[in-house]
Amino acid sequence: MSVKDHLLNRIRNDGPLTIADYMTECLLHPVYGYYTTRDPLGVQGDFITAPEISQMFGELIGLSLAQAWLDQGQPERIALVELGPGRGTLMADILRSTRQVPGFHETVSITLLEASLTLRDVQADTLKDYAPRWIDEISGLPDLPLFLVANEFFDALPIRQFLRDGEGWRERLIGLEGNALSFGLGPRTPQKALEDRLADTHDGDLVEHCAAAKPLLEHIATQIARSGGAALIIDYGDWHSLGDTLQALRVHESTDPLEAPGQADLTAHVDFETLAFAARSAGCTYTRLTPQGVFLERLGITARAQTLAASLSGLQLETLIAAHRRLTHPDEMGNLFKVMGLYPPHAAPPPGLEP
Ligand code: SAH
Repeated sequence: MSVKDHLLNRIRNDGPLTIADYMTECLLHPVYGYYTTRDPLGVQGDFITAPEISQMFGELIGLSLAQAWLDQGQPERIALVELGPGRGTLMADILRSTRQVPGFHETVSITLLEASLTLRDVQADTLKDYAPRWIDEISGLPDLPLFLVANEFFDALPIRQFLRDGEGWRERLIGLEGNALSFGLGPRTPQKALEDRLADTHDGDLVEHCAAAKPLLEHIATQIARSGGAALIIDYGDWHSLGDTLQALRVHESTDPLEAPGQADLTAHVDFETLAFAARSAGCTYTRLTPQGVFLERLGITARAQTLAASLSGLQLETLIAAHRRLTHPDEMGNLFKVMGLYPPHAAPPPGLEP
């Protein structure tokens, strides 16, 4: 049995799947799922993320969060949280760079939200000098001021796609053509969650909706508004989604999302407006959406690169220069990836970001 056989059976028995059902099965099926069965990150894997490109990324995020902690009067106990920590590299870099911030480490309890047991093992190994705690659901967060980071987490959450048809919407579904998976369209129905999209779309436009993001954001934002803290959400996407952004990556190449279920990473662009409005409705403030390159430059990535470069030569130096470019340059990750911060009303925004 494979994810594909399981999906074919499910469609034969229950009819077409939403794209959200398909993503959930492919990524997180408890036996066959993509994240359940492997560590997909890095040069040997299917994709590479900013913290895996360079230690500078996590170091600067750590300093931004620690400065937010200082700006908010150094609360005595805080939850330092990461959503979807991959290999644990980002959290390890955050903890290394913040060692120099007097008092910070004594206050933190480290909490990781991670669905994959395979990746939890990798994280436990990377973070063996600390004592992280894992949670399955966002409701498991400790009730403390919250200093949180999520890099390439929201893009892995399941989305649904809808095609505008008059005043209604037809959902893009996955059914069968013979024994092959294939896209089709459901009947026209009204969609309450998409009411505000009637104003900015036309007949034939496709929009994406991530139902899972809103309750997560509301929980985080409510806690920050009530108890203090800051969140840095980094992902690819934009303020408003438009068009089909479902993407499959396998061994660093883009493939057809239906071709190898459970064998390829599946993501979609993040609709930051949904996140921002969920934060606002929970009484939390959000920063301007900022390109990753601008954010990292403001935090001093070039100065950090120069310091690291001073003790490097040859291939190591070239790798560092390439990493700096890859993280910041507008033609690479600098513009495609965006950063949004959340912070309590009346507090300063986390460094690197503007109100
Ligand atoms: N943040 C890391 C890894 C990004 S990959 C980095 O930047 O390198 C996405 C991560 O989110 C993986 O750790 C994956 O297992 C986790 N993940 C995906 N969907 C999840 C879900 N619904 N709940 C919890 N973790 C999830």
